[in-house]
Amino acid sequence: PYLLTESDYVHQDALSYPFEERGLQFGDGVYEVIRIYGGRFYQLHDHIDRLYRSAEAIKLEVPYEKAELLEKLATLLEKNSVTTDAKLYLQVTRGSAPRDHAFPVGVGANLYAYIADLTRKTEEMKHGVSVITHEDERWQNCYIKSLNLLPNVLAKQTAKEHGAYEAILHRGERVTECSSSNVFLVKDGSVYTHPETNQILHGCVRTRVRTFCQEAGIPFVEQSFTVEDLQDADELFLTSTTSEIVPIVKVDGSAVQDGKPGDLTQKLQRAYEADAQIEHVS
Ligand code: PMP
Repeated sequence: PYLLTESDYVHQDALSYPFEERGLQFGDGVYEVIRIYGGRFYQLHDHIDRLYRSAEAIKLEVPYEKAELLEKLATLLEKNSVTTDAKLYLQVTRGSAPRDHAFPVGVGANLYAYIADLTRKTEEMKHGVSVITHEDERWQNCYIKSLNLLPNVLAKQTAKEHGAYEAILHRGERVTECSSSNVFLVKDGSVYTHPETNQILHGCVRTRVRTFCQEAGIPFVEQSFTVEDLQDADELFLTSTTSEIVPIVKVDGSAVQDGKPGDLTQKLQRAYEADAQIEHVS
């Protein structure tokens, strides 16, 4: 397998970093995960635009111009003969330099992108998952897709230890998102989710769900809800590049309504399937 780096394509085994690397020592960098269906990227431009926004927010220069990066990623798919479902992971860090908190001077960013296998969350999408609620212990700039994921990692691990798929995060009473996905509440035919502020990652699938709702005439309300609201939700679901759209059927051990995936969630799942299909046939 080949990787794309800041200077060239290299064989996966040939990549090496000095131990003083800012991604490793400070989490000083940003990343993206992009879905590949049938050998084609899904929502590529949304992800790449977000990458440049994240990089700009931390004053980091991506080693390639946008058009050049898009071209390089297309070539990476070809070089690896990707024809099936997979994901691309890409990260940019502030480079390799002697350890010092302040930015190094005259040091270029490190970039690498690789393609990894992934299994579709078929069972989870079909039957739904259980989640826990967890205090959102992150910083104030969650719209930046930063490599600093420690609070997310700890929340996800707590969920796992409770036999749950995800952790719904809340700042005080207000639900923000999940540890690695966005969360939505359905009530009386409307879909509610946290607005695109600095408190959440502006998810690419979230954006798609907004479009699906608009197309289907389903009110999409960008308004936060509370932990208490979860109790009498008609439906709950989460979205992400790797999870797609997954129904939430249990919160902290209590069933959501009858404990089965809701109709509106399933409708959105079908819209997603059709959309992903369209993109990779075109
Ligand atoms: N929120 C967080 C904290 C995430 O890590 C992710 C996954 N990248 C998402 C939301 C969903 O974003 P996307 O739909 O772009 O994958």
